[in-house]
Amino acid sequence: MSFVEAIARKRDGDRLERDDVRVFVEGATRHNLPVEQLAAMLMALCCRGMSAEETNWLTLDMLSSGEAWELRSSHPEVVDKHSTGGVGDTVSLILAPLLASVGVPVAMMAGRGLGHSQGTLDKLEAIPGFRCDHDRAGLDRLLDEAGAAIIAQTEEIAPADRTLYALRDITATVPSLPLIVASIMSKKLALGAGTLILDVKWGRGAFRETIAEAHELATALRQVARDSEIACEALITDMNQPLGAALGTASEVRAAIEVLSGGGDSRLREVSIKLSEQAMVLRGMDATGAQSRLKASLGSGDALEYWNRMIVAHGGDPDPERLPRPERTHDIIAMRSGFVAGIAADSLGRVAAAVGAGRSHRDEALAFGAGITVHARLGDRVEPGQPLATLEIGARHVDADSLAHRIGSAFEISDTRPEVLELVLGTVDEVDPTVSSHC
Ligand code: URA
Repeated sequence: MSFVEAIARKRDGDRLERDDVRVFVEGATRHNLPVEQLAAMLMALCCRGMSAEETNWLTLDMLSSGEAWELRSSHPEVVDKHSTGGVGDTVSLILAPLLASVGVPVAMMAGRGLGHSQGTLDKLEAIPGFRCDHDRAGLDRLLDEAGAAIIAQTEEIAPADRTLYALRDITATVPSLPLIVASIMSKKLALGAGTLILDVKWGRGAFRETIAEAHELATALRQVARDSEIACEALITDMNQPLGAALGTASEVRAAIEVLSGGGDSRLREVSIKLSEQAMVLRGMDATGAQSRLKASLGSGDALEYWNRMIVAHGGDPDPERLPRPERTHDIIAMRSGFVAGIAADSLGRVAAAVGAGRSHRDEALAFGAGITVHARLGDRVEPGQPLATLEIGARHVDADSLAHRIGSAFEISDTRPEVLELVLGTVDEVDPTVSSHC
């Protein structure tokens, strides 16, 4: 049967056969289908959706398009973590050494900045000497030396996803739920850790704006993981404002070090502890005991010690004094008194990217000293002249006035104190997807 017929069937709302999905993924991997047909199928999938079974087939075929590292066979105790992305989300940098410090090794394949979201690899590369390109043997060494590894996705992992993701980007098919699930999970399954903790964000700075949408994504991701016998839990967390106060690369590394030293931003600390605690629960520990071990490690300097080990193992210099700093700063102040009733986290993320923490084209150099520090949070009372945020300018040439204006516009000040929803809503099973997403 020709692939055109499969496209027509999905276009008309019918389900795909097992072989249709195989041919589609092989076409994306070996480039033996015309790109027009791949694009047409993506649009049909985006408009008509996929059943859980079809999504599972797509994920498994995308996984099989490349290497499968099967980490759980050699290192059954290793935990992987994934966040669906946001702003000021420094959690991966904290969670990896924190869990390692309590005896739970962590391995992650992380990405670079995407849209308004700063990338974990970009943040780590602000550390002088840090290297994230490692093969399977390199990953084993990092786990042996530091108990924590954060590496870049290799060319051999899920090559079908690379082709399909690039096509989705130019065919307006990125937001499709089954395509997102297959893209994320094919790479998670390729690493093959036995335990996976997911942080699914909802809100203005997230991929999914409502609680119901985040719940749907969390449920689908968890199901695919569990179908592959991976112990998996998903927490749904708030992204209606930046998670931590720092949006950048070097500045987020500093924010991570502060939390790992027992202090730091309280919201960042809370999400890092909750996700780490859930990971320990998945590894068979009780929640209360897990939480007190994590807090003890943050307080005792153990977590920081594991951070230093992780950085050294990756070739980096752990001395925080060597981290790049901004060349100049520009405060953005409140023009009136009132309560912070809204923060456009996505806009702040885009400004942070523009000033140097992200790229407008693939080869653009980052300005590691650049970013934004947020001073006012949702619900805070502010007075005229009080700083809402600071724009930190690094080596990239930028129009500081225009960026400062965009930061000011991202803050909504109102006469009434807004209702602020819980930072961590809970696990998929604890969250009611019908609850209102308005805060
Ligand atoms: N991250 C991915 O890797 N793929 C998606 O489709 C979305 C987020």
